[in-house]
Amino acid sequence: MVRFSRHGEVLRIDLARSILGRGRYWTTAYMVGPLLVDSGCAHTANELVAGLNQKGLRPEILLNTHSHEDHIGGNAAITRTFSDIRVLAHPEALMVMADPRGRQPEQPYRRLFWGWPEPSSGTPIREGDTIDAGELQFRVIETPGHSPDHLCLFEPDRGWLFSGDLYVGGRDRALRSGSDIGGVISSLERVAALPVITLFPGSARIPEDPAATLAAKIAWLRSIRDRVLALHAQGLGVGRIAREAFGPPMGIELLTLGHFSRRWLVRSILASEGS
Ligand SMILES: [Zn+2]
Repeated sequence: MVRFSRHGEVLRIDLARSILGRGRYWTTAYMVGPLLVDSGCAHTANELVAGLNQKGLRPEILLNTHSHEDHIGGNAAITRTFSDIRVLAHPEALMVMADPRGRQPEQPYRRLFWGWPEPSSGTPIREGDTIDAGELQFRVIETPGHSPDHLCLFEPDRGWLFSGDLYVGGRDRALRSGSDIGGVISSLERVAALPVITLFPGSARIPEDPAATLAAKIAWLRSIRDRVLALHAQGLGVGRIAREAFGPPMGIELLTLGHFSRRWLVRSILASEGS
């Protein structure tokens, strides 16, 4: 399932596998000028290509914000179709993209919703690099936390921040295994210091007030960190802290067989504080 919507110069592309007639677990790609930001999941790769072709769009650069399968799954189909496209990603992301099955084993829920990406390749890009996209110049900002290979893009003239999955809304009460909450907070603090006029997230709505939105997110994460550390200081174990701080078991924990859980959030907070 692919939905296009326009936000001024930016084309938003929402992608999800359709199951029982409904899109499940949407991710968002964007196209602006010649630049495509992310490529969705494997299940929607052909729909993405067909949608771009239908609109007469021909991306010349594909930037992957990180290596998760719902952001790189369309790469192979995109590069087959637009054969002169340049693919850019963090060096660590490129290693995953070259061998998604070997480097990023998937739980059943991930295969169901997003599927295995085909291997793809690209050119490394790092902090401080600029992506030249016609009259637009996108600054690359390394923002580890959600994944170690995560990048955001900032276009200073327009005040656009493409946040990938660093910001996807919500008040987290669970974390994906492998994410680092201390890194997420530091990276959010970095991008919150930028003069952002429009925030384009890796899913979720485009917020009205990006500065207030990012500040609220950081405040929430700091507050849960403090709560977890206070409970830990009282001598509680991970399971008790998870329940006290974040309430009873969540549906997503069952769905993901614990890959996304309150416990991972607690563990990551304790690890980031060296507890
Ligand atoms: Zn992700």
